[in-house]
This record gives sequence, structure tokens and C-alpha cells, in this order.
Amino acid sequence: MSEVRRRYLEQQIELGGAEVVLEGGEARAPAGVAAPPPVAPPAPPAWLKGAPPIPGPGLAVTSPEPRLLGNDLAGLDSLDAVAERIRTTHCCALCPHRANAVPGEGNPRARLVLVGEGPGATEDATGRPFVGQAGRLLDSILQAIEVPRETVYITNIVKCRPPQNRKPLPDEMAACIPYLHRQLELIRPKVILALGGTAGEAMLGVRKALGELRGKVHTYNGIPLVVTYHPAALLRNPNWKKPTWDDVRIARQLLDR
Ligand code: URA
Repeated sequence: MSEVRRRYLEQQIELGGAEVVLEGGEARAPAGVAAPPPVAPPAPPAWLKGAPPIPGPGLAVTSPEPRLLGNDLAGLDSLDAVAERIRTTHCCALCPHRANAVPGEGNPRARLVLVGEGPGATEDATGRPFVGQAGRLLDSILQAIEVPRETVYITNIVKCRPPQNRKPLPDEMAACIPYLHRQLELIRPKVILALGGTAGEAMLGVRKALGELRGKVHTYNGIPLVVTYHPAALLRNPNWKKPTWDDVRIARQLLDR
């Protein structure tokens, strides 16, 4: 008997208050006792309708040991401590030009962590990730999969804004990514969603097109990692909304797995 069917029958028992015999997968009220009214099994959530199945495995990576990176980030024992370090130090040529560093924000016990590329103008001005136009689109995507923004953690590969929002350079990402490794060690989420090819490549340590990174469940330190389009890319090309919606629903199913 399926788990859903079993739960449905158990619910019937509770509602009916009568002893019900589970026999051959069917519920039967004992003789003389009116059968409780049928209770409809719970409807699947709207986001699941038409969602693709969870795809097969992709790359498996482990983050480098912090001590091999020659830093002391392993000694920072909270997200606040990591954020404070980011805000008070410079690790690459982007840092001196920032109005604010953008360490990341959200639930320290998040089950889902979203990783973008780097702060834009609004993020630089406020010190908060994904609060501009792309952030508003991200909020509606989260709402559609019934994951409130306050339950997730949102951060970026680089914590300071690249000039003119250009893609961060390899040495800038290399200098900053240890912070992300430490943040993920502290949070230990159930699922990671990399937003955009740059974030996917940086997290997986590869040079591959986004098309090759999508549609697989990679693992980062054993944590399932899904790569999708960056919300800013969706604003430029709405044709990518449907594939993004599929990717996001894969991540959402992994959360429930
Ligand atoms: N784009 C990103 O990659 N990160 C942000 O925080 C905002 C826009």
C-alpha cells in the first residue's frame, strides 16, 4: 500500500473514531458501525503539476579544506562572524570600491541556500543580496514553490559588486569563495540552488556551459546542487522562464525527498 494511501486511511480512522480494519489495503468498518465519510486524499501542491522528475546525478565535488586555503575561516563559528569578517576586511580588488559588502542573509538553519554571482547596484547600496529587480523576480519564484524567502539563505560567489556588474574575474572568485564554503559548512542545507552559469561553474570548479550544468543533480560536499538561469537573465530573455521553472521545481522536490 502506498504511503499516501496509508496516511489517507489513518486519517479516516481518526475522523471516524471507529475501529477500522486495514485489510488487503482497504478500510472496513466493523459490522454495525457506520463507515466514516470518505476524506479526499490531500491534493498535490500546484507547483508540482507538470514538474519534471528529479534527474540523475551530475558532478560530485568537495570544498577544499579551509586550512589548505591558508585562512582561518574555520574558526568563525557563526554566519554573523563570517559576515563581520567580510565587512571588515578586503580580500580582492573589488573590496575597496564597495559601498557595502554583501555577505548574504537569511535563515541560519535554511534547508535551501541560493547562490548568485555577485551584488549589483541595489545590493551594493543596501548591503543585502537580491533586493533589486532580479531579487523581486527571485521572490516570486520562491513564492511559487511555496518557500518563503525568510526560510532560505541567499548569498553570492563574490561579496562585493564588480564594476558595471561585469562577471567576477577568476581571481576575484577564488579570493572570495572560501567565505561561501564556510557559510555552507555552517548552514549545512538540504539543497543548494546555483543561480546562473557563473555560480554553477564556481561552485563545481569547472568551466562548462550552463546547458551542460542544468538538468542534473550535482553534489557539493554531499549536498544536492541544482544549477539554473540567473534571474537577471530571465529579465532579458523570458524564454528561459520555463526551463528555470522546471529547474526550481527539481530543487523543490529535492527539499521534500
Ligand atoms: N545578482 C546577483 O548575482 N546577486 C545579487 O545579490 C543581486 C543580483
